[in-house]
Parts: sequence; structure tokens; C-alpha cells
Amino acid sequence: MNNRNEIHNALVAWYKVVKRDLPWRKTQDPYKIWISEVMLQQTLVETVKGYYTRFLETFPTVYDLAGADDELLMKHWEGLGYYSRARNLKRAAIMLVEEFNGEMPDDLKTIRKLPGIGPYTAGAILSIAYDKPVAAVDGNVIRVYSRLFKIEGEVDQKEVKTTIDEIANLMAHEEDPSSYNQSLMELGATVCIPKNPRCLTCPVQSYCQAFEAGVQNDLPKKTPKKPKKEVDLYAMVVKKDDAFLILKRSEQGLLSGLWSLPSAEVSGDEKETVVPVDNCRHMLSDEIGIDVSYVRELGIATHVFTHIRWSIKVLEFNWVAGALPDYPETKWIRKDEIETYAFPTAYKKALRSGSLL
Ligand code: SF4
Repeated sequence: MNNRNEIHNALVAWYKVVKRDLPWRKTQDPYKIWISEVMLQQTLVETVKGYYTRFLETFPTVYDLAGADDELLMKHWEGLGYYSRARNLKRAAIMLVEEFNGEMPDDLKTIRKLPGIGPYTAGAILSIAYDKPVAAVDGNVIRVYSRLFKIEGEVDQKEVKTTIDEIANLMAHEEDPSSYNQSLMELGATVCIPKNPRCLTCPVQSYCQAFEAGVQNDLPKKTPKKPKKEVDLYAMVVKKDDAFLILKRSEQGLLSGLWSLPSAEVSGDEKETVVPVDNCRHMLSDEIGIDVSYVRELGIATHVFTHIRWSIKVLEFNWVAGALPDYPETKWIRKDEIETYAFPTAYKKALRSGSLL
């Protein structure tokens, strides 16, 4: 690997000078590193800071997490998205307590057996908490290596990803893997950014093959994305006296296990044929067992997931008859009780546009 030592030295020296003061950089505790790395997946550093601190105040050890109340755990994850991450954290914590005496394993093969710990998180924990020379390849690192070594294939294709993994393994730093891996993450987050990388301030510019060829803005290449599925979501505010109805989503699928307003989804050709208010009434009658009367439209919102875009229409109904079922789990709550329940961001938007938040 050309310039391997020079790249190591330049990045580690640079990182030690410029590294941002982040709460998870003040520790080598594997538990805390693990929590931070899982939170940082798909989520911005500035957002994670507050969540990380609050999470560790409530769940300071793996034992606290293993015994966490599910509702409280979800409340601490509310707004971070990708909620399966929180459920996997608890499953892994239980496994750590039951099978590993509460200790995070320090080898790649064993740590990968824990739910939710993929190659990146494993590499990050092993290198940062245990100083093991293991690569940690996330989107930032893929971008940096694809530019440094001018890899021109589409990085989401398996062979190209394998090439980058091989480079990352060859580049793994034996003496200071923690600083080196974090320097790559830092470079990707602050200098070698997706658009208009700041090459003039880059510590490895003189080794960068993309910069030399003037193609840094064209890399990494990705397969064009499929358009997102457009879904109309009718979110129902069903009122009874001073309360309204909330429903816990099923344990499978999008936003599983979180609280929401009862909802009906309409997509594709159905958009032409379905009468929204009738559809909502049928949903409430067939799935929850209550009869309602329609009042009015309260507001609209949108929410975008990785593959789906929701156009949310919030409709108000009044309860007329029927008792709540055992399943799905439903509750009548007052406006001032909303904060007790973990709602995903999409439903917080719906609650806001219905003037409930
Ligand atoms: Fe990225 Fe530019 Fe540095 Fe190359 S020179 S690694 S493209 S910031």
C-alpha cells in the first residue's frame, strides 16, 4: 500500500490537534463507546450529544440497560429514528449480562455475535476501547478511501465494497488504531465532506489520488437510487371527552412498537379509488372496534424515511360507540400526557399539525 506510513502519521498528527471535544471521546469504557457508536449511525454528531448524555444518566451500566423498562428505553430514543437500534442494544445488553459477565468481548468473532453489532460498530469498539488494530468502515471512511485511492466503481456494489474493506484492513494502524480510526471519521465528517471537499486544508492532500486527478467531486460513485415510494398516510385524531386515542404499532415493520395515532395508508392506484374518510372509519371499526363520526381535517405534514415518503393528513373524528380492544394496544390519553409516551418524529409532526403538541 503506497504511502501507508505517511498517511498514518499525517492523519494521526492532524487528529490530535483538531479533534472535536465530544463527550464519548473522554472515555475508553467499551459500554459508553458502544452506545455512542450505535447512536451515531445515521445520526448527526450534534443531535447525538444530548441523547448520549441523557441515555447514560438513566442507563449508566450494561446492567441498567439489560433491565431497562421498554417504554423508558424508547423514550430515550424518541426522535433518533431507526428504533430497532434501541431494541438491539437491550437484547445485546441482556446477552452481555447473561453470557459475558457484563463485559464487552474484545475479539471480532465474539463481539459480532451481539445483536446490532455489525462490522463497523465492532471495529469502532475494538479499536477505540481496546486498542485493537481493526478497521471500522462507515460511510465517511468509504468516502475518504475512495478518494484517497481513486476507486472509481460504484461503492454500493459488492465487489467495490470488498475492495474498500481490503484497503481498510491493509491500512489498519497497529500502534494507535483508536486515533487512526477516529482521524478517518473526523476527516470524513469535517474535511473530506460529501460535496466540495475542503482539499486545501486536508492533511493527506499530497497523497490523494482523486485530488491529483481533479476528480474528488466525482467520487465516491453510487448506483442511482430508486425513487421513494409515495404514501398518503391518514392519521386520525379520535376524540372522546378531553382525551384522544393512541395506538401502539405492531412489533413488526416500520416504527414497530412505538406509539402513534391510528392510521390508514394509501398508495399507488388506491389513491384514485379510496375515499379517505370512509377508509379511516372502516379501519377504526374493523381493527379497533369503535364507531366514529368525522369532524374535519386538522392539518398536513410530511415525513421522509429512507425508502418512503409519507404525506400525512391529520383528520379529526369523534368517538361514538365501542370499547377499546386488548390488541392492538390502545389508550385514551389527554394532551398533557403525550410526553409520557414514545412517539416517532413522523407522528410528532402529525400531533403538532393537529395542534396536540
Ligand atoms: Fe478528501 Fe480532498 Fe483530502 Fe482527498 S485531498 S482526502 S478528496 S479532502
